[in-house]
Amino acid sequence: MKVVIVGGVAAGMSCAARLRRMDERCEIVVFEKGAYVSFANCGLPYHIGGVIGDRARLLVQTPETLKSTLNLDVRVFSTVTALDVSAKKVSVLESKTGRTYEESYDTLVLTTGAKSLKLPLPGMDHPAVFELRTIRDMDAIQARIAAGAKQAIVMGGYIGIEAAENLRLRGLDVTVIEKMPQLMGPLDPEMANLLKDELVRQGVRVLTGCGATGFEDRNGKIAVKLERGEPIVADFVVFAPGSQPNADLARAAGLKLGQYGGIAVNERMQTSDPAIYAGGDAVESVDLISGRPVYIPMAGPANRQGRIIADNICGRDSRYRSTQGTAILKVFDLTAGMTGLNEKTLQRLGLAYHKVYLSPYGHADYYPGTSPMQMKLLFAPDGARIYGAQIVGRDGVDKRIDVLATAIRGQLSVWDLEHLELAYAPPYGSAKDPVNVAGFIACNLLRGDVALWHADEIDRLPPNACVVDVRTSAEFNLWHVPNAINLPLGQIRAKVATLDPTRAYYIYCRVGRRSYLAYRILKQHGLKVKTLSGGTDIFHAFHPTEQPDPCPTTPTTTAMNTDTKTARVVTLDCMGLQCPGPIVKLNEALASLSAGDMLEIKASDPGFPRDLNTWCRAQGHEFVESRNIPGGILARIRKHAAVATTSASASEPAPSSGRRKKTFVVFSGDFDRVMGVLVMANAALAMGNEVTLFFTFWGLSAIRKEQAVATPGKSLLDRMFGWMLPRGLSRLTLSKLNMGGMGTAMMKHVMKQKHVDSPQQLLTQARAKGAKLVACSMSLDVMGLRPEELLDGVEIAGAATFLSEADESNVTMLM
Ligand code: FAD
Repeated sequence: MKVVIVGGVAAGMSCAARLRRMDERCEIVVFEKGAYVSFANCGLPYHIGGVIGDRARLLVQTPETLKSTLNLDVRVFSTVTALDVSAKKVSVLESKTGRTYEESYDTLVLTTGAKSLKLPLPGMDHPAVFELRTIRDMDAIQARIAAGAKQAIVMGGYIGIEAAENLRLRGLDVTVIEKMPQLMGPLDPEMANLLKDELVRQGVRVLTGCGATGFEDRNGKIAVKLERGEPIVADFVVFAPGSQPNADLARAAGLKLGQYGGIAVNERMQTSDPAIYAGGDAVESVDLISGRPVYIPMAGPANRQGRIIADNICGRDSRYRSTQGTAILKVFDLTAGMTGLNEKTLQRLGLAYHKVYLSPYGHADYYPGTSPMQMKLLFAPDGARIYGAQIVGRDGVDKRIDVLATAIRGQLSVWDLEHLELAYAPPYGSAKDPVNVAGFIACNLLRGDVALWHADEIDRLPPNACVVDVRTSAEFNLWHVPNAINLPLGQIRAKVATLDPTRAYYIYCRVGRRSYLAYRILKQHGLKVKTLSGGTDIFHAFHPTEQPDPCPTTPTTTAMNTDTKTARVVTLDCMGLQCPGPIVKLNEALASLSAGDMLEIKASDPGFPRDLNTWCRAQGHEFVESRNIPGGILARIRKHAAVATTSASASEPAPSSGRRKKTFVVFSGDFDRVMGVLVMANAALAMGNEVTLFFTFWGLSAIRKEQAVATPGKSLLDRMFGWMLPRGLSRLTLSKLNMGGMGTAMMKHVMKQKHVDSPQQLLTQARAKGAKLVACSMSLDVMGLRPEELLDGVEIAGAATFLSEADESNVTMLM
């Protein structure tokens, strides 16, 4: 039997090697148009970055080694140019000599791989535009870098991201351009945003939703013209926009193709001609979950298909079952794993599903070297099928995505995930493995033990929704969901009676653990509650513009400054601690330092860089620098000379520098006086000041909800106060010349004619610009008002808070 294989890398060589192992007498000829067979194309980006130092390590086999070990006839620089399926012959062009000849076969195997999607962009043929598919492409990019290239532009999917990381590791200025609104199409957008964050953190510029329109020469450099904005100029471009099947030979020979243009094959990898098999990136296959055709060009399917082809050629009945799109990607310190269908695809296919997010640790959090991963699990409404999973994190992602991929392949249900017995010791996992926890949460949802809301629903919450942050006030003050109120978990039992049973409480915390506990308390008190799946970590991933700026990170390769002459340097290890742990420790540590001392803090909590930046700004400490270390960041901050660190408790925020802060005390409930305060507050905000509006006594009317709120259990006296006090800004009246309401109406009319903003508009503007509204707890109590009668997002605090706000302010006005 003579088998001819066209294409000598993953699928082709896997087939050839298996064939030989199965049949010692078979004649096997492999044609490869390139210079190398069986090379590690997946390793190409890493040689560019210097991670794989020795280029020869990528060249797994040579024609000579394959001849001596497997007795294969491997012919490189040999392009198969045509198939004659009736005569069972292929035409071959030897590119080195120009010789052409024909080779006969009994069985033909087409493993011609993929080719890059060609975009019809002007200037694509510029010599500074490179693909990254072959050793030759890699060598050409290396040569550019060796010749002094400093800036690179990368366009494309996961190969592009790998290239971006590795070019950055070589010290280049790298810009990633992506036409789609997100990176990495196989991930859902919120998960892909986590990767974008990491790229940006590592100094890569990322432009999403911004396609290239062409390339232009700029004095030896290359300019990429964009759909919007100025062109970007660089020394070269890596263009890896995705793959399409290389099915040209098959098409020309009249073999059947599929809907993605890949060679159509049956389960035995046979084409429409029974003497011809095909596999790898050249074919399309069937999706495990949907049963529909898919084109997912990956090395795993290619290798397995090569082996199956060999088995069938040797007379075995071996079948390729389906593809499920399991993939993994390294993005600097992060790993992204995915398997099965994503949410976008489920929606496109019209399949009903549930989703849960969780942030488990890669291994026991008390054992060094771990941090939380973000996990998303998609499953059928009855839990019987797991549709897909996506995980992004630093530690243990590979293990979990593979367990979930196996669960999907084995058709396990989410109920089964609860029962998986997975390896555990502190350095490797947790007694409740992240996969078990995903099962627990999914099953809690299905059993009705928890009700979830998702960050993408924030703009569609019902009118009676009240968003409640159950984190500590320190965390709340660093950042919170717009219009949320703060009710820390520790206070919920004490305050549950004050909550309005007619409202729907949308609660959240950082990752979902505390809010689940709060959920259980509130639910058992008969309240309508939902808890945010994945917490603020996932909320930020959905709404990246809502998050505070992370602290800038210096490139990993750059050493940090150590100004040891002027400062005592104290180190603090917060690896493995989750928010607010690092901030609490930081606050405690600073308390023992003197002004000018330096604190060096290591933390693995992914949210910490953002918290740190906000915290330093708020506290007036100097953020010196930060850089990435394995599994986290190492940041340095200097205790500010003017700052005395207060309580070490995270629930008591320390004072800020006080340079640009204004506090207004709204004592009056008169229209004109409140109006005056709001005008001043907006002016102060516009000048870049922080503003706190402290409402007390009659001023509370201004922040009452306009509609009546049920307040069961109020005493008659309290209710009477409630009736007498105006409900909201629209009901306030002038302090003078009110004339039974006529004067106020006239004033409003004149203001409207003269285009003066109403108090409602002024308050909205002030809040949008970040004004903090605080209601005096004592006045609330005296006037018999309840927190739920106030506008959402108003904080409740006492005189101490007012005094500390005033302390930090350089202007305090009482109205
Ligand atoms: P290929 O490996 O591409 O081999 C096809 C061969 O056929 C080529 O060498 C080509 O020269 C030859 N050929 C084509 N036409 C002819 C002809 N007419 N005559 C003779 N020879 C011909 N996958 C993963 O799963 N994980 C990864 O991390 C990963 N990283 C990657 C990184 C890079 C930079 C690249 C390029 C790919 C990566 N892939 C990865 C994809 C993976 O390499 C492919 O899915 C896999 O190699 C496909 O195997 P194949 O045999 O079908 O095609």
